[in-house]
Amino acid sequence: MAEATTEKPRSPIESGTPDPFPHLHPTLRRNFGLWRYHDRPQPGVLHHVAETGEEVWTVRVGTQRQMDLATVRKLCDIADAYADGYMRFTIRATAEITVDDEGKVQPLIDALREAGFPVGGTGPAVKMISHTQGWLHCDIPATDASGVVKALMDELYDEFTQENMPNKVHITTSCCQINCGGQGDIAVNIQHTKPPKIQHDLVGDQCERPSVVARCPVAAIRPAMVNGKPSLEVDESKCVACGACYPPCPPMQINDPEHSRLAIWVGGSHSNARSAPSFHKMVVAGLPNNPPRWPEVAEHVKQILYAYRDNARDYERVGEWIDRIGWKRFFELTGLPFTKHHIENWEGSRYKLNTSAHLRF
Ligand code: SF4
Ligand code: SF4
Repeated sequence: MAEATTEKPRSPIESGTPDPFPHLHPTLRRNFGLWRYHDRPQPGVLHHVAETGEEVWTVRVGTQRQMDLATVRKLCDIADAYADGYMRFTIRATAEITVDDEGKVQPLIDALREAGFPVGGTGPAVKMISHTQGWLHCDIPATDASGVVKALMDELYDEFTQENMPNKVHITTSCCQINCGGQGDIAVNIQHTKPPKIQHDLVGDQCERPSVVARCPVAAIRPAMVNGKPSLEVDESKCVACGACYPPCPPMQINDPEHSRLAIWVGGSHSNARSAPSFHKMVVAGLPNNPPRWPEVAEHVKQILYAYRDNARDYERVGEWIDRIGWKRFFELTGLPFTKHHIENWEGSRYKLNTSAHLRF
């Protein structure tokens, strides 16, 4: 018989955002909330001056985003050898290395460039491009968002290392059109163009059919018996090819090498720092999902980016520029074709959306 134990049961470990203070550079820690001003002595370098007179310089470094252990170690070795060993990653996977001596800045930059890392991403520049999880962590992507990002970053390398834009530019990519993609000044998102193809022999074994029916925003899915087995059917005249039925039911196969295409959206912003957050709007549809370099995507992103660079006023974000000049002028300046597919006149929306439990009007 097991002996009675007097040990207390193990308490759950409280998780959440870790306390950042033990990891901050000591100068940042001492001067928290005491900053007098900051400036940018050169692209990629932030300089902060505290009320106490102490100063820090932060060098911002681009990475390939999906980082292997060897790359992380290489960055850490440089931070140890040329700085004070204090490095952090931003939410856009940019590394920031902090020093408290101006004399350490240039040797650090030289070492980073020598190792192949670009220094930049500060001020009015194209920031590191963000992407959703893709095939690394997700089961439903229709493209390799991280591959699109890597190809785009190679094309826009100089726009990261220089500050040539009217304001900062956030570019994002998303590998499906319903889930974790964010709003961006310029966003590259998957766009399905055909209803799902149903693998009827698998539905009964793999899918909880009421959940799948409930997922459809336009109530296009119905339970059905096919070849004597429980399955589903889609009213294709209603389907808007959103892909929402695919995650709960993989046999609702919507990913397709030809019909899952890429669209470009502009003018989105999460932040409400200077103006209200805004949704981005689609301006280019139906680009081919064309690995490994996605040249059509890069060409259109550059077309939009350089029209913005050449025509927006200082400090205007992409969405603010479009709000000022209007969509007609945006299409003229970018040279993008304006087609009937850009117009949503909500024709038939009352009928379609009122059939769904999600939205009624
Ligand atoms: S955007 Fe969609 S496919 Fe890509 S990681 Fe997020 S949920 Fe998965
Ligand atoms: S969930 Fe989306 S893709 Fe699936 S049937 Fe409904 S509208 Fe079509």
